[in-house]
Amino acid sequence: MGRVALVTGGTRGIGEAISKGLKEAGYSVAANYAGNDEAAAKFKEATGIPVYKFDVSDAQACEDAIKQIESDLGPIDIVVNNAGITRDKMFHRMSYEQWTQVMRTNLDSMFTVTRPVIEGMQSRGFGRIIAISSVNGQKGQMGQSNYSAAKAGVIGFAKALAQENAAKGITVNVIAPGYIGTEMVKAVPADVLNSKIIPQIPVGRLGEAEEIARGVVFLASDEAGFITGSTLSINGGQYMA
Ligand code: NDP
Repeated sequence: MGRVALVTGGTRGIGEAISKGLKEAGYSVAANYAGNDEAAAKFKEATGIPVYKFDVSDAQACEDAIKQIESDLGPIDIVVNNAGITRDKMFHRMSYEQWTQVMRTNLDSMFTVTRPVIEGMQSRGFGRIIAISSVNGQKGQMGQSNYSAAKAGVIGFAKALAQENAAKGITVNVIAPGYIGTEMVKAVPADVLNSKIIPQIPVGRLGEAEEIARGVVFLASDEAGFITGSTLSINGGQYMA
């Protein structure tokens, strides 16, 4: 097939499953990460997928790294904007730093990573942009005003970009995962997980990273060309948007 996919935060958690799923589907994949060299090296060794260390909140770093990836692998056809962080705090105790860190990593990254590839996709007449939002961007979550705002922003971004590019062979879609059993969620204390979080999920369990990856692989395919500007909720029935 020869198509090239960039997965931000593609070395751990949901991103790792997405990188592997796209590779299995025949794409040439580049996986980005921020600073965990050990996890990235392990991932690279296990999968053979090349890794690129850069901060998605740094516009210049993204531009430079994307040039490098395109020179190594070829033009990027698929971008999965997956990298994300949490800095949870009740709003009245939240620092400006906690607010901006989440905004920059989770929302500014939509610009910094997508802007350098969009014109190439337009000129080639094909592109797939897939952003990972969250159920908490759809419904809001106590203690996550920063994260909920950024993740809701991702949905608005995708709808606008989808309209601009619908006639150019580029689709822009969002996946909004519910609670998935990655390190981000396993950092939540077990009693909170068992007494508060899992009871809210009608399917009765956390999701698996591979369940998000399968959605990404579908949205990246040629067969999904009529789907754009949409948000696919993969949350075990927790919130039906
Ligand atoms: P993890 O914490 O397991 O992995 C995060 C990945 O993102 C890592 O590869 C990390 O790199 C990378 N990353 C973080 N910050 C940056 C940055 N500034 N620049 C580049 N890469 C960065 O996260 P998850 O797999 O749990 O989450 C993935 C996405 O899914 C996030 O956007 C998250 O908000 C969303 N999500 C997750 C849910 C869940 O239940 N887990 C639920 C709903 C949404 P490094 O390894 O170097 O730290």
